[in-house]
Amino acid sequence: MKIGFIGLGNMGAPMASNLAKAGYDIIGFDMATVTVNGVSNARSAVEAATDADVVITMLPNGNILRAVAAQVIPVMPKGAVFLDCSTVDVDSARAVAADAEAAGLLPLDAPVSGGVGGAAAGTLTFMVGGSEAGYQTALPLFETMGQKSVHCGVSGNGQAAKICNNMILGVTMIATCEAFALADKLGLDRQAMFDVVSTSSGYSWSMNAYCPAPGIGPQSPADNDYKPGFAAELMLKDLRLSQQAAEGSDADTPLGQAATDLYRRFVEEEGGTGQDFSAMLPRFEKRGRS
Ligand code: NAD
Repeated sequence: MKIGFIGLGNMGAPMASNLAKAGYDIIGFDMATVTVNGVSNARSAVEAATDADVVITMLPNGNILRAVAAQVIPVMPKGAVFLDCSTVDVDSARAVAADAEAAGLLPLDAPVSGGVGGAAAGTLTFMVGGSEAGYQTALPLFETMGQKSVHCGVSGNGQAAKICNNMILGVTMIATCEAFALADKLGLDRQAMFDVVSTSSGYSWSMNAYCPAPGIGPQSPADNDYKPGFAAELMLKDLRLSQQAAEGSDADTPLGQAATDLYRRFVEEEGGTGQDFSAMLPRFEKRGRS
């Protein structure tokens, strides 16, 4: 199987490297000059895609995905898989999939969770939208780059699953952080708070697996001075995508909107850029009601 891999950044480079290690023939392209072990370099996206059985893209946003897709779809052989693993808006995912399908390709949108650590370790989770035939063709690749893939239905559904999941994550992280800050003000010990909530109805992944309070619960970015982890600005990107999708589909998402507003303020006005998204806790700690 010949694979063209476009976008060899923080995520794409380790993903391409894992495919190369597993013996796949990978030809990569990135706008920046990037060298990845075992991956040969193309001079353009078109060169990486020509004759490829699968083209994988791992790009920053929907506009860039649309531009790259417009270049590569015409040169890909019929029956090939166009596999986008970027996190982009649902509309871009569906528009690119429609163009790919019209050209006789099998499009898949397959955003990931697991971050840079998961990309390097080959333990990503893929949320996949597109045809069953495309999914089955790409399955061995998901198994190489990750530990789990879920076929979520038609094109765009992978992105829909990703942004709904991350909207829940943003909201529950904020709820967990503001509850810790309230508990502090009420004189409740953080360990006691964790011991109760993590085994009571307030439990969540944010509390139990990724506790935002340093020294409490399992190891998390809070124990490493809030170095990401999952950076606050990436959470903001995903929350914005969720609100764009909510606008487009007339969905009422008041907590998603509130989480988007809080992360926007944190990232753009309060120095949150480059900190883990759980650094909402020290943010709340410093504040009063006004
Ligand atoms: P990144 O900025 O490190 O990598 C993107 C790469 O795309 C860069 O190397 C850039 O040079 C390249 N690029 C941009 N335009 C291009 C073009 N026209 N042609 C070829 N290459 C081009 O970003 P990343 O962290 O690797 O994230 C990639 C995607 O994965 C994003 O959509 C992001 O939201 C998603 N994601 C990231 C994480 C994470 O923790 N970093 C986790 C889950 C999902």
